[in-house]
Amino acid sequence: MASPALELADGRIDVTGVPGVTAALAAGAVLGAPLGHDHALISLSDLHTQWQVIERRVRAVAEADLVTCFYNPVSRTRNWQLGRALAILAEHRPPGTPVGWVRDVSRPGERAGISTLAGFDPAAADMHTLVVVGSSATTVVAGRMVTGPGTMAGPEPATGPAAAVVTTACRGCGACLLTCPEHAIRPFRDGRTMAPLTVLPGRCTGCGECVEICPADAIFLAEEVMTW
Ligand code: SF4
Ligand code: SF4
Repeated sequence: MASPALELADGRIDVTGVPGVTAALAAGAVLGAPLGHDHALISLSDLHTQWQVIERRVRAVAEADLVTCFYNPVSRTRNWQLGRALAILAEHRPPGTPVGWVRDVSRPGERAGISTLAGFDPAAADMHTLVVVGSSATTVVAGRMVTGPGTMAGPEPATGPAAAVVTTACRGCGACLLTCPEHAIRPFRDGRTMAPLTVLPGRCTGCGECVEICPADAIFLAEEVMTW
């Protein structure tokens, strides 16, 4: 509220700014470290900003692969904007991209959870919820949402007989990503690989837990693929 305060004061009243913890930073600490690299904050309230302007901003951050925090995602009179914004991000990010949400952050009754772009239900959010959508550098580590430094080229697919391989049958439910004990699976799309996930080199031990949990039979150990 510092900006309206400064505008109204207009130099006639002395206004002092006091640094505080924003809702995005507080929510980030609850979820893990999703804001560990470049990110954007966007309010989905179209009370004071035209929806066309908001949508243009969402498209820009989607193309820029920024972690995106949505403020004011839903209200009693606005119930479609969050779904629309997530759909725009989904045009540029794999369905397994981690999505974190925190309701009433730092308040009594605080609740939080981590889902995926494909699995997150916008109806679960309200005006008190902050929604954080990961970038291609975001993964889930021991149940916490983490954005690493990222690279321009993205991770190289894993190789070697123990490595798991995600096929294009993947529906992006994110179950393997949340299950992998080595945190070896990441959302990923680079134009060369049609599967929305990849397995990080050197991390996969070939335990096969991802293969067991996949409801789409979309992930295999490389040694199985090589015997086809
Ligand atoms: S085989 Fe095991 S370690 Fe490798 S990606 Fe699947 S769950 Fe993770
Ligand atoms: S469990 Fe299967 S369908 Fe779900 S994200 Fe993993 S590979 Fe894709």
